[in-house]
Formats: sequence, C-alpha cells, structure tokens
Amino acid sequence: RAKGTGKARCVIYSARLGGPPEHDISLEAAMFQAVREGEFLLYYQPIVNAHTRQIQGFETLMRWKHPRLGMVPPARFIPIAETNGLINLLGAWALKAACVRVRRFEQAVRRPLYISVNISPRQFRNDKFLGVLDDALATSGLPGERLLLEITEGTLMVDPVHAEAILSQMAERRARIAIDDFGTGYSSLAYLKRFPISVLKLDRAFVKDLPSSHKDGAICNAVLDLAKHLRLSVVAEGVETEEQLRYLEQRGCQCVQGYLTGKPMPANVAVAALTENQYATLLPDALRAAIQ
Ligand code: C2E
Ligand code: MG
Ligand code: MG
Ligand code: MG
Repeated sequence: RAKGTGKARCVIYSARLGGPPEHDISLEAAMFQAVREGEFLLYYQPIVNAHTRQIQGFETLMRWKHPRLGMVPPARFIPIAETNGLINLLGAWALKAACVRVRRFEQAVRRPLYISVNISPRQFRNDKFLGVLDDALATSGLPGERLLLEITEGTLMVDPVHAEAILSQMAERRARIAIDDFGTGYSSLAYLKRFPISVLKLDRAFVKDLPSSHKDGAICNAVLDLAKHLRLSVVAEGVETEEQLRYLEQRGCQCVQGYLTGKPMPANVAVAALTENQYATLLPDALRAAIQ
C-alpha cells in the first residue's frame, strides 16, 4: 500500500515538472553549475502598440542554454529555482541586466522604451528585493517609470498586507506594476482597488481562441472594459494572428505581445527589430507596405 502511494506521488510530481523526479534532481544540481558557467541568458520579446505596431518595450524572458540538454524552458527551471532559492540570485541578475540592456536599446533608436521583468513570489517576499531594485535603477540610470515589474495574482494574495507595503515602496521608486497572467489566478477583484497597479497582462488562455470563441470574447471585452474604467492599460499575451490583434485593438486594447509581432529574441536581434520597426514607422503607408 505504501508503495502504491509512493508511486502515485511520483506520477503527480513528474507530471507537474514535466519529467521523472530523478532527472529533476540532476537538473537542480546542474543549475548551480550553470550559474557558475554563465549558462543563463536573457531573451527579449517586443510589446507593441496594437494600433501603430511600434515597439513600446520588451518583456525579459530567461533562458537556460545547457551544453547537452539544449534550451531548458523556464517552466522547467523557474519552479526549481523558486524552491531552492536560486531565483533570488537569478532574478537579481535578470533585473539589473535588463535595465542596463534597455538603455542600450534606447540609445540605438533614440526614443524611450520600457522593460518588463518577471518577479517570482519568492523574490517579491525577499527582504533584499528593494535593494536589488535600487541597484538596478541606479546602475542603469533607467527612470523608474520605464520599469514594469510583472507579478501574479498569487504573489499578491499570499500576504496582502506585506504586499501592500512592498508595492508602495516600488511606487515610491516610480516602478510600475503589471498583473501577469491576469484572470488565471486565485484572487478577488478587490485587489485592483487596493493596490497601485498600472497594467493588466491578459493571459494567453483568453486570447488563443479569439475571435471564434464567444466566451473568450466576452472575457476579453469585460477585462478591457474594467481596465478602461480603472485607467489601467492592457497588454494582451500570446497574440499569434492578425485576426486576434484586430479583435483586441478594435476593443481598446493598447498593447499586444505574441509571436505575430515578435518571438522572444536575443538582445542583438532585438536591436535589429527595433531599428527596422523604427524605420518602417517613419515611412509613409504606401512605401511601408512595399517593403513588408
Ligand atoms: P510569462 O511571464 O507569462 O511569459 C509569457 C510566455 O508566453 C513566455 O514563455 C513567452 O515565450 C510565451 N509567449 C509569448 N508570445 C507567445 C505566443 O504568441 N504564443 C505562445 N504559445 N507563447 C507565447 P516562456 O519564455 O517559456 O516563459 C514562461 C514563464 O516562465 C513566464 O511566463 C514566466 O512566468 C516565467 N519566466 C520567464 N522568465 C522569467 C524570469 O526571468 N523570472 C521569473 N521569475 N520568471 C520567468
Ligand atoms: Mg510575464
Ligand atoms: Mg504572462
Ligand atoms: Mg504566463
């Protein structure tokens, strides 16, 4: 009987992490090595204005390039880093590197851009986080309002009183807060009233079956309406088709992020995307159409 229970647990465990537990233990060991060897990279995915298609900023997405396993997806390694605490180290590095990087992007196109960085629950709770944030802003010289910190509903709900204190400290630094995967967590709408939030990132789950799904359409419309009345801006995630973009844009969605307007890319490719995008937006419509 005990054996049966053990087996059942193994199944649940491996289903969640996407591999056998033995493998994940070795993956964990490999992570420490990877930190020393500098195998972690940052990719950047464009966030574009739904109307003009101009790049407004980028979301920073971490990558692990393992010499044998190849690219290990964040869905695989972030939960491990969250459990063993490495996320504090990796997250601090990502935040600072991303702030420095976006300054270079800005120099390349001579206009302001913003950078979005994912903050895990454990990082958010860490008492060194505000120091890390100050360091990232000071080192890069990035004005706080051009940094968007992405947190999930779950991060806020663990300890709302503590969250309120941290968020007000972030607001003091003028950093903006986005709710990531909006609509998929356990939460009440009351937190939108309580916390100083600027952006809702509409989860891909509600976007992927647009425009045919009536239910998803209704949810998107409701979120866009709510955001409008609360003066929040919305970034729709996972936009893959022109139809999805048009549907969202027509309903007042300011920004989109997805494979249609750019996959996550290394920094040098992001600079090229920015320069092209900038160039294209300066051209008259007819000429722009001709070069696309
Ligand atoms: P997220 O923050 O919701 O990031 C969006 C995810 O959607 C990314 O997956 C991105 O590659 C993917 N995506 C973007 N556009 C499309 C699309 O059009 N279609 C589809 N199918 N997918 C799209 P990725 O890079 O695998 O990251 C997964 C998650 O890992 C992120 O979800 C975030 O929760 C976490 N993550 C990634 N980087 C970091 C990091 O630096 N720190 C922390 N704490 N978490 C991170
Ligand atoms: Mg995110
Ligand atoms: Mg997201
Ligand atoms: Mg997500």
